[in-house]
Amino acid sequence: MLLDHKSCYEALVTRDPRFDGVLYVGVTTTGVYCRPVCPARTPRRDRCRFFANAAAAENAGFRPCLRCRPELAPGAAVIDSASRIASSAARRIEAGALNEAGIDELAAEFGVSSRQLRRVVKRELGVTPTELAQTQRLLLAKHLLTDSALPAVEIAFASGFSSVRQFNALFRERYGLSPTALRRSQSPRTPEQALTVRLGFRPPMAWSLMLKFLADRAIPGVESVEDNRYWRATQVCQDRSQSAGWINVERVESANALRVEVSLSLARYLPSLLARLKNLFDLDAHPQLIEARLGEDEKLRETAPWHSGLRLPGAFDGFEMAMRAVLGQQISVAAARTIAGRITEAFAEPVETPNPKLNRASVSAATLSQAGVADLTRFGLTGKRAECLIALARAVAEGEVKLEPGVDVEATIERLKQLPGIGEWTAQYIAMRALRWPDAFLHSDLGVRKALGETSPKRILGIAESWRPWRSYALMHLWNGLGQTQKQ
Ligand SMILES: [Zn+2]
Repeated sequence: MLLDHKSCYEALVTRDPRFDGVLYVGVTTTGVYCRPVCPARTPRRDRCRFFANAAAAENAGFRPCLRCRPELAPGAAVIDSASRIASSAARRIEAGALNEAGIDELAAEFGVSSRQLRRVVKRELGVTPTELAQTQRLLLAKHLLTDSALPAVEIAFASGFSSVRQFNALFRERYGLSPTALRRSQSPRTPEQALTVRLGFRPPMAWSLMLKFLADRAIPGVESVEDNRYWRATQVCQDRSQSAGWINVERVESANALRVEVSLSLARYLPSLLARLKNLFDLDAHPQLIEARLGEDEKLRETAPWHSGLRLPGAFDGFEMAMRAVLGQQISVAAARTIAGRITEAFAEPVETPNPKLNRASVSAATLSQAGVADLTRFGLTGKRAECLIALARAVAEGEVKLEPGVDVEATIERLKQLPGIGEWTAQYIAMRALRWPDAFLHSDLGVRKALGETSPKRILGIAESWRPWRSYALMHLWNGLGQTQKQ
């Protein structure tokens, strides 16, 4: 199992969805087992038994809970469980999976038929995948009608509808008025060059520390941090230049929200872009619950200055983040940034933006997988590092490794470590950011050693035990205490 009893209980108390599918809890007094996201009252610690999968809970004599329904699909692996498939599918649908492709493609991602996927989602979430997608589209459309000056026709497509007629009909059916009637009730606006959307979060949020982390690692040409604002150029489909554009994000001072500006050229990809930004800025976290735990830890408090609202920087693009992690091995953050910029300039698609600092999309795994070692070593990385990068690009391009939240963390870490040149440090760091795993830990990290004044990996791991299952957040506190000057 990934977590021990104590950490499992901490995970249970917060109901953080990142632990869904990773652990199951059996309650000894009722004989029922649940997922960590179950809405039922949290049982007492001494009444809980934890399992890595539903089959193990059933073998121990527990019955599945009728509220959170942790039934198991064929196979014993965590990734096969029905709840895991349903929650991952819901996340993909929220990110626009059913706007860009059909239910067959989505089902194929999980290795099930579209009929099975429909059944599992309906049983787990009470709605069909199509209903889920429709609700997401409507909510986004309502948001855009209220907050943007985009014409209603464009809003239909930006929200993921495939036709204006469908948009009008569904909107009227659910909300009892037409999209244009809703718009008329708002004050008139002048048309803009970009779409503006708000993304809410649970306070507190240490926004400037998040920006500092991203600024230190920003890939020249692709990302930039200016005036408390994060900028990025992107191309959603690597083979389609009309899917290119730019994004910028700033904090709304008066609300617990980020203001996101997206170029009109990217309007049709809005759901997937918003999902990526939520990952990047860790907007789904429950900081109060995490801090209630870590803030009381004496060792952490005496080692690092406390920053309330410190978030775990995620990844906008999992492969880009992993590439940077490989480039950063044994060199400074600044040097890795320079090399990443050179590789991007040579291999990535150009993108036009209003920001003179941004002119490139991220390098795609598919492009880099075609490169030879000599194509990369001329940018200042060693032959070993170039081989590692190409192997990583191949694994991602071929779909053998997926670097996104919701995948099996343990299996992905193991698979990454089989690639030449990827060790524990890099695999854990990728898990922490690209997979958004809250309990990653870099016990061999120089910064961690320095912060803790310890060199023995065993003792460092021992100290970090009390931070589970939030070791990734504890690590951010340690790094911040050092001024973030460490590698990566
Ligand atoms: Zn339950």
